[in-house]
Amino acid sequence: MNLCVLGAQWGDEGKGKIVDLLTPRFDVVARYQGGHNAGHTVYVQGKKFVLHLIPSGILHPRKICIIGNGVVVDPTALFKELDELKTLGVDVGTRLLVSDKAHVILPYHRELDVLSEARRGERKIGTTSRGIGPAYEDKIGRRGVRVGDLADQSNDGPLASAIHENVAARNRLVGNNDMRWQDVLGDLRTAWPRLAPLVADTSLFLHKAMAAGNRVMFEGAQGTLLDIDHGTYPFVTSSNGTAGGAATGLGVGPKSVGTVVGVAKAYTTRVGEGPLPTELTGAMGERLRETGQEYGASTGRPRRCGWYDAVAVRYAARVNGLDALAITKLDVLDGLEELEICTAYKCGAETLTEMPGDTAQLAACQPIYEKMAGWKQPTRGVTNYDDLPTEAKAYIRKLEETSGVSAAIISTGSERDHTIIRREL
Ligand code: GDP
Repeated sequence: MNLCVLGAQWGDEGKGKIVDLLTPRFDVVARYQGGHNAGHTVYVQGKKFVLHLIPSGILHPRKICIIGNGVVVDPTALFKELDELKTLGVDVGTRLLVSDKAHVILPYHRELDVLSEARRGERKIGTTSRGIGPAYEDKIGRRGVRVGDLADQSNDGPLASAIHENVAARNRLVGNNDMRWQDVLGDLRTAWPRLAPLVADTSLFLHKAMAAGNRVMFEGAQGTLLDIDHGTYPFVTSSNGTAGGAATGLGVGPKSVGTVVGVAKAYTTRVGEGPLPTELTGAMGERLRETGQEYGASTGRPRRCGWYDAVAVRYAARVNGLDALAITKLDVLDGLEELEICTAYKCGAETLTEMPGDTAQLAACQPIYEKMAGWKQPTRGVTNYDDLPTEAKAYIRKLEETSGVSAAIISTGSERDHTIIRREL
């Protein structure tokens, strides 16, 4: 059975660690959306690896990793990541394949990202300014450039004319209107010899791999509440990080996706703008941020922190059809006297038990909390469920009850072996 690992909250749930942990059970790890705005931090024997674009499965020898058609690729960022992996002693060799249908992030996408955020002023989304959104805009606007298009080396072919037109459009929009399309094209030409050996029809590759009995793990980036369709629009990312994205972002049938596991932190965080009903701005928020080291892996930005939002995770269970939860960072709650779980929202006179579709309404909601006892004995590094303090077990049970999904994995630290596996996936 294949497996899809995705974020059940607002991203940064610790998907990288879970994917890394489960990789030995799989043959192929495939990323289906997003770009190098994602940041997965993985610790292996004390060594820190931060992956942005390349699936974290790459840290395991012999595993094949795929960047699917649903991903947007900045060749410069990809090469930087490959170079860093080499420096850290990871041999990528021919283990990485990039879909010929993945769209390319071009220099003007980065500029347009910054420009659009500046224009929005106070209504800014809080993007990573890496050109991801504008690259997806060009994709949907049917003027994008795909990785496979870079093979066109002619001076007057479709690639040259697409770049020419897109740079002209950029020059009409941006103050300093002197970007030369020839320079952009030249950079792509320079990148192609290094990129070309990685480029493949990855849908066909996956089809053959699965037919030969290989197991595939689908890796989502960001999280359900940041999904372009199902998230807190417009404060979302530009792609579908939910389970359906795995099929469209890799060119496999929905039945191939297999088991779906939602990764959820034992509390809640969000980076960037947009509603976060359980946000704690005082000392407790600071306590979670410092203990959980809640600073963005891609940007270093401090993450907004709050209590666990059971309404949000139950929603994630619904839109993804979750089969299991992986609860991470339980250890961050060690030593707290009392914990709170948001089980519903108060919105004016209404009590909502389901996530509202209207983002303004969500922003106006107040969390309704249930209190739970904290635990004194640390959970950090615990590997056996029975060794958890009684209160921590009660807390996990509450997360299962409120989502209707069982916690197959509980993570109690950042290292691979700081994990409780209750059910094989
Ligand atoms: P991702 O994008 O979902 O992979 O999440 P990030 O990598 O941005 O953030 C997760 C961070 O939490 C990383 O620094 C992980 O090493 C760390 N982490 C993951 N699981 C645990 C855990 O159970 N406990 C603690 N303390 N840290 C964890």
